[in-house]
Amino acid sequence: MNKDKGICKGQCKEHKVRKPRDGSSRYLSGQVRCQICGVFMSREACHDREDRPATEDTIDLYCNCCNCMVRSRPRNKPGIKSNKTQEEYDQLKELRKKY
Ligand SMILES: [Zn+2]
Ligand SMILES: [Zn+2]
Repeated sequence: MNKDKGICKGQCKEHKVRKPRDGSSRYLSGQVRCQICGVFMSREACHDREDRPATEDTIDLYCNCCNCMVRSRPRNKPGIKSNKTQEEYDQLKELRKKY
């Protein structure tokens, strides 16, 4: 699988993805960036280090097109942080006042 490494063969164009409309992070939307091909694409366009199709859990992703490692982000669960309501913030403020 080392043949053609680092050369864009144009396959990535089929998996190229557009920028999310809401301006959220591409990485959070499951997209990966191939620096060789210069495109953002979906994970389906990648394979793992054993040459198997990439899944949601794959951390090491390689571009199917140029066979180079692409950058992805470790999974983090969206919606866990900044779940505090305004009420909770107010409560915290009150607590701080006491000290
Ligand atoms: Zn390519
Ligand atoms: Zn590539």
